[in-house]
Amino acid sequence: MRLILLGPPGAGKGTQAQRLIAKHGIVQLSTGDMLRAAVAAGTPVGLRAKSIMDRGELVPDDVVVAIIAERIDQPDAKRGFVLDGFPRTVPQAEALDDLLAERGLKLDAVIELKVDEGILLKRIEKRVAEMTARGEKVRTDDNPDVLRGRLAAYRTQTAPLAGYYAGKGALKSVDGMTPINEVATAIDRHLAPVGARPGGKSGKPRRRKADTAKAKRAARKGSARRKRPATAAKRAKKRPGQRKNRTRRRLTRAR
Ligand code: ADP
Repeated sequence: MRLILLGPPGAGKGTQAQRLIAKHGIVQLSTGDMLRAAVAAGTPVGLRAKSIMDRGELVPDDVVVAIIAERIDQPDAKRGFVLDGFPRTVPQAEALDDLLAERGLKLDAVIELKVDEGILLKRIEKRVAEMTARGEKVRTDDNPDVLRGRLAAYRTQTAPLAGYYAGKGALKSVDGMTPINEVATAIDRHLAPVGARPGGKSGKPRRRKADTAKAKRAARKGSARRKRPATAAKRAKKRPGQRKNRTRRRLTRAR
């Protein structure tokens, strides 16, 4: 399964991506995380991106497209991926179309998390407070001033992607203001037809890890149920006297 999560900062893309990767056995490709890793490692890309990210602006398209192109070719991305934070501009979306077409791959869906911008600031403040409480390092761009810039960049450069993907019939919109599990259910509802396609678009068998585990548990339970009476019967056959005595003893006690 190949998905894109679209939505402004704080919309809950990361939270939903985490759930989707566990459910579908795919990987999360977050350009934000990859760029932050590059900054932390001090790579040439990181050095180029740092000040841009700190201002809440977008890193040049060629930089992120190159990062994604390299990443989707890695073995763990073969089963599928959820793109979080990419594409962020129409040229990035076009580059992604080319990348996928060159590899004979297709997108299954673009999930748009629709949120009220007014409360995003509150969400980010909460995220910062929680990270601080856990002793984690807070992102340098998670502050009200930079967030305003990130929201402006989203509005002008990223929001047009909804129209781009709607035109291709790939856009699925979800209300991102409802509780996390309701957002998750709404996403699952949109993805149900994708999951139901025989073999899926990847052409791979659609059995997921979770299904396999469930099936194994059910089989174990079933066989345990079948085994118990069989073993009891065998025991009864082997030691009929003993069994009868036990029953008799129980009956005597009951009297
Ligand atoms: P957010 O929480 O705002 O959605 P991310 O963690 O996805 O942020 O990204 C943080 C920053 O990294 C962005 O503000 C931007 O500077 C840069 N960035 C991430 N993805 C892209 C992209 N696809 N194109 C350009 N810049 C990006």
